[in-house]
Amino acid sequence: MLYPPPAASVRLRYAVTAGGEVRGTQIMVRKVLCKSALVKSGIADHALNPYTGCAHGCVYCYASFMGRFAPHGRPWGRWVDVKVNVADTLRRDLQHLRRRAKGSPPEVFISSVTDAYQPLERTFRVTRACLEVIATAVNEPAQQALPLLTRPDASLLEPDASRPNSWLRVSILTKSDLVLRDLDVLQDIPGVEVGMTITTADDAVSKRYEPGAPPATRRLAALRRLADAGISTWAFISPVLPYHADSRPAVRSILTAVRDAGVVRVMVDRFNPYPASVSRFLKVASAEAAETLREYIASPREYLDRLRATVAEAAAGLGLAAKLFSETASS
Ligand code: SF4
Repeated sequence: MLYPPPAASVRLRYAVTAGGEVRGTQIMVRKVLCKSALVKSGIADHALNPYTGCAHGCVYCYASFMGRFAPHGRPWGRWVDVKVNVADTLRRDLQHLRRRAKGSPPEVFISSVTDAYQPLERTFRVTRACLEVIATAVNEPAQQALPLLTRPDASLLEPDASRPNSWLRVSILTKSDLVLRDLDVLQDIPGVEVGMTITTADDAVSKRYEPGAPPATRRLAALRRLADAGISTWAFISPVLPYHADSRPAVRSILTAVRDAGVVRVMVDRFNPYPASVSRFLKVASAEAAETLREYIASPREYLDRLRATVAEAAAGLGLAAKLFSETASS
């Protein structure tokens, strides 16, 4: 296991709300202790996941493998472990990181295998606690060797106002407008970036494939509010949903929606046809979407080449800086 549950771990049942609606299912919630908050990551230098598991329950989620580390015997989306000590652990991890940091600032990516703003965050507030720890850590002056003084010299303790950037880069990825609750803390973290996953501009589509997450229109509205508040934003168009988001009109509609929400940078990734993702997708997909996915799996190179060209053309036409899935992704 990555972390042991505390001896007094608590099992709770919650009715999860998404978009103000109570879901028809309940999820199992367990409070656990983590040994470290930051883990090495292939996405950034370090990943921070305040939860294990995710009640957004997206049918295509590649993180469902995390079930191996927190065996609940329930399907993905129906269980969550809350790392109740994650903020305290993060404080210690950041002290170590700062002492070791050399060269360019290390990056912490929040939500690589969960969503830090899933519905339980309204109750447990562990993500907010982590952001408060980060805000304190990036705004306090570096410890320096103080000269021997008979009295403390307060000027030595003042933050370096000329420092243009923080010693730490922080990036958050979410599907939830709950991130707006923490605008005040985000504004205390220099250079913080918030990415919003947008897979469609159609709420009916997001509800079908991302049943526990806020609908697409609320995510787009959140992007607008973040941008208006001076927070750097980007949109993660991932995965490109077969049939719903891969045609020229659909791609253009999604990219137009994010541009109109104040986004200038997008990252686009394909649907990764892992067996578990395909199986869950096909259970809820419309007949057209199921057919398109089967065509993609049958001829991935043809499908992905066409998609790549479609996205590149639409992004360029809308003046968006786009990072597309790898040229080798289809091989
Ligand atoms: S929000 Fe992200 S981590 Fe959560 S279920 Fe959806 S894809 Fe998985």
